[in-house]
Amino acid sequence: MKEYEAVIGMEVHVESKTNSKMFCSCINGKGLEDQPNINICPICTGHPGTLPVPNREALVKITRFGQALNCQISDYTWFERKSYFYPDLPKGYQITQYERPLCYEGNIEILTSKGPKYIRITRIHMEEDTGKLSHINGKTVVDYNRAGLPLMELVTEPDIRNAEEAKIFCEELQLILRYLDISDGDMDKGQMRCEVNISLREKGTEAFGTKVEIKNLNSFRVVEQAIEYEIIRQTEVISQGGEVVQETRGWDDSKSITFSQRKKENAHDYRYFVEPDIPPFETSAIITDAASITAELPIAKRKRFLDEYQLAIQQVEILVRNKALADYFEQTISELKAWIKADNKEFTPEETTKLIKLSANYILTELIKHYSEKGLSFDNSPISPENYAEFIKIVFSGEVSSTGAQTLLLQMIETGSDPSDIVESQGLKQVSDTNALQGIVDQVITENPKVVLDYQNGNENVLQFLIGQVMRYSKGSANPQIAKQILHDTITQNK
Ligand code: ADP
Ligand code: ZN
Ligand code: MG
Repeated sequence: MKEYEAVIGMEVHVESKTNSKMFCSCINGKGLEDQPNINICPICTGHPGTLPVPNREALVKITRFGQALNCQISDYTWFERKSYFYPDLPKGYQITQYERPLCYEGNIEILTSKGPKYIRITRIHMEEDTGKLSHINGKTVVDYNRAGLPLMELVTEPDIRNAEEAKIFCEELQLILRYLDISDGDMDKGQMRCEVNISLREKGTEAFGTKVEIKNLNSFRVVEQAIEYEIIRQTEVISQGGEVVQETRGWDDSKSITFSQRKKENAHDYRYFVEPDIPPFETSAIITDAASITAELPIAKRKRFLDEYQLAIQQVEILVRNKALADYFEQTISELKAWIKADNKEFTPEETTKLIKLSANYILTELIKHYSEKGLSFDNSPISPENYAEFIKIVFSGEVSSTGAQTLLLQMIETGSDPSDIVESQGLKQVSDTNALQGIVDQVITENPKVVLDYQNGNENVLQFLIGQVMRYSKGSANPQIAKQILHDTITQNK
C-alpha cells in the first residue's frame, strides 16, 4: 500500500489588544460580551462620507509580531479595499492589505516531540474585523461591536506535516502574542482563529495534492483532531482511486468530523484596489517603536531556563507557558542569590543548584496545586516572591521538617505573613537539639520495649516506626535525621 504524507499550511487571524479600533476611536474591547451595537460609530459602521484613520498602536504591534517571527518588514506600504457583500461588513468592503503586507518572509521555531523545526511565515498583514451575525429563533441579527477591531492575518508556507506540529505551532504563536502583550489570543473568545489548509501527497514526492480548507477551529484540541480526521478521510478517498475535491470544510465537534461547507466555486472576485482614503505610508518610525518593545520570547526563555537552572524539560515547559509563573520563579531566584551574596555564604555550585531545584519543586508541585484549588494566580500571589524565597531558605537550612514545611506553606497562603514569624508563632521550628530530643527518645523507647528488642535483634526496618513515634510526640518538629541517630545510639548503648 502506498504511504501518504500530509502537507499543511495555516492561516491565523488575531485580534490585537489596542486602546481603540483600527480606523476609528471606538474603544477596543468594550461591549463585546454584554450588549450588541453599543460600541459603534459612523466610521466602523461604514457611513458615507466618513474617513478612516489608521491606528498607529495596531501598526506597531503587528510590526513587533513580525519582528518576533523573523519577518522582513515593508519599508513602505498601503491598504487595499477587498470588496464583497455580506451583512456583517457594513461598508461592502474590508480594508486590508494585499500587494504589500507589512510583514513577510519570516519563520518560527517550534519544539516538537521529534526535535526543533522551523515553519516559514509567508506574510502577516493588517486588516479590520467584521461584525458578528447570530441566528436567533429563525431570524438573523447583526452586532457591529466587533466591526473594525484591528485584525492581523498570518499565513504560513505549507511546512507543517502533522497534527502535533500544527497544534504546537498555534500554541507557540499564542505564547508569543501573550509575551509581547499584542493579544491575549484566547481562542474561545475568538481573539485567535485558526484555519488549516491540508492536502496529501505520496511520500517521497514533491508536488502538492489538492488542498482542503478547514475553518472554525476554536481550540488547539480541535485543530489537532480536525487534521487527524482529515488525513484519514483524504487517505481513504485517494486509496480508493478517488480525487480530493478542493473545498471549504467545517468541524462538527459533537461528531468529531469535518464536513463540506462549500465547494471552491470560481474564485471570488474581490476587486482589490488601493484604499483611496488612506495615503500610503513609510514605516521607519513604526519599526523603531516596535523594536523598543523588549521582551524575552518563549523559545529564548526555554533555552535559558534549561541552561541556567538545570531544570527538567517538563518543568521548564510549565514555567514558560505561564509567564507570570516564570517571572515569579525568577524573582524568587534573584532573592535567593542576593541572600547568598549578602551573607557571604560559601555555596558550592551543587548547593546553589539544589536551592534552585528546591524553589522550582515547591512551586511546581505544592504552590500550583494550592493556587489552582483556591483560584489564586501568580500575577498577584498572596505569597510574595520575597516571602517564598525566605520559605525556601528555611526549608533548605533544615529549620522546619518537610511536614512542617507543608503547614508553613499553607499558613503563608492563608495569612500572607512572613514565614519566619509563622515558624515562631506556630512553633514549627524543627528540633535538632540533642538534649531536647533525648527526652522524647527515652520516652518512646520505654513505651515500645518489644520494638526496641526487635531492633536490637537486627530488624532495622522497625527504626522507621520509632522515628515516626518521635515525630508524633514532637508534633512534627523533630529533625528526623537527628532523631534517627539518637534512637540508634540510645538503643545500642542500652543493649
Ligand atoms: P488560496 O489562494 O487558496 O488562499 P494560498 O496559496 O493563498 O491558497 O495558500 C493558503 C494557505 O494554504 C497557505 O497557508 C499555504 O501554505 C497553504 N497551501 C497552499 N497550497 C497547499 C497545498 N497544496 N496543501 C496544503 N496547504 C497548502
Ligand atoms: Zn467606531
Ligand atoms: Mg490565499
